[in-house]
Amino acid sequence: MKRIEMEVSGGCQCGAVRYHATAMHDNSHLCHCRMCQKASGNIFAALVAAPDDALSWTRGKPSIWKSSALVERGFCANCGTPLFFHHLENGRTNLMIGSLDDPHAFSPHANTCTENMVAWFDTITGIENTGATENNGADWAAAIKESSNQHPDHDTTSWAVRGVMAERYSGGCQCGAVRCHGAWAVVLPVIWGQRCECDPASGIVAHLCYRPLLGGR
Ligand SMILES: [Zn+2]
Ligand SMILES: [Zn+2]
Repeated sequence: MKRIEMEVSGGCQCGAVRYHATAMHDNSHLCHCRMCQKASGNIFAALVAAPDDALSWTRGKPSIWKSSALVERGFCANCGTPLFFHHLENGRTNLMIGSLDDPHAFSPHANTCTENMVAWFDTITGIENTGATENNGADWAAAIKESSNQHPDHDTTSWAVRGVMAERYSGGCQCGAVRCHGAWAVVLPVIWGQRCECDPASGIVAHLCYRPLLGGR
């Protein structure tokens, strides 16, 4: 596996979590294993690795779920974007190609773990291509563009995370001194790192919020 010195940035859809790599490996591939299908919510995970020593998190931190004793999977807890597959013992982090600012830069060289490749995989490049979003309605495309909460495909010096994930939710810390409801109430503690004295060891308020918010309505 070759290491290529290059600058690569990416992150999640809402922009709460951003990363930068100063080198990449030439291992771009599509993994069809059942775990990658679940982790990506898709029929395969398109992945390319950054050496761990070249990868840094430039905004926020990914949330991590261990899918096995050997593998961590990273994602944004705010918007849900899957970000990486990290084999704990091989020194590299396979980034989700769709999370890169320029996903065109890494064409895949291999299909891997194909025991669960969907039976119709070979047909996907031959099906109807309905063209640009505008083809489905200029008004629709304009409305999406106008109201988009998505982080742009380049690094930003500052960024206020927007979004409405939490609008239907409310929650707070254990003692009730800090309550959050609506998107901004959830997002701002992430940025400011507020803590409630009722449970200072447990970290930022947002963490306390997320659990009741995401765990139950
Ligand atoms: Zn996000
Ligand atoms: Zn996989």
